[in-house]
Amino acid sequence: MEDCPFCKIGRKEIPVKAVAVNDSALAFLDINPVSPGHTVVIPKKHAATVLDMDDDAIASLFSLVRQATLQVKNGLNCDGFNIGLNHGRAAGQAIPHIHIHIIPRFNGDGGGSMHSIVRNPPKESIDQIYAKVREAVAQEEKYEVAYEKPEEKPKDTRKIPRDWELDL
Ligand code: ZN
Repeated sequence: MEDCPFCKIGRKEIPVKAVAVNDSALAFLDINPVSPGHTVVIPKKHAATVLDMDDDAIASLFSLVRQATLQVKNGLNCDGFNIGLNHGRAAGQAIPHIHIHIIPRFNGDGGGSMHSIVRNPPKESIDQIYAKVREAVAQEEKYEVAYEKPEEKPKDTRKIPRDWELDL
């Protein structure tokens, strides 16, 4: 993406304080740190979210997350981390190029946990939510099967029993 700031960083057009790098990803210090050592990890190739990446790219990205976390831990002797990403505009993603935040935490720093991000508990029961999520997973699996063997595509995929398909 021509104007994407993180693509420009990946192409070395914008200088950063690089923490770690591998073939497809780059970790660097955030220019607006919320804590000492706040680091961002990006894939060099543009992707908005994890849903736009293949498994190899995700593996490489998170491998570098591990390496950068270890490096920051050794350098700053922090007591813990919040590691996560704002995934999509509704979740606060400001730049549409996926970036994993590594936020060092120190005992007594006054910060919260992931549970402090939002308080929007479901109005439906956990069982109702679970049924919707499982339905969605099952439909994606049916789609893949239908794509590979269209002659076996069932008339109504929603009636196929799926309890045996997932062992969660
Ligand atoms: Zn980009």
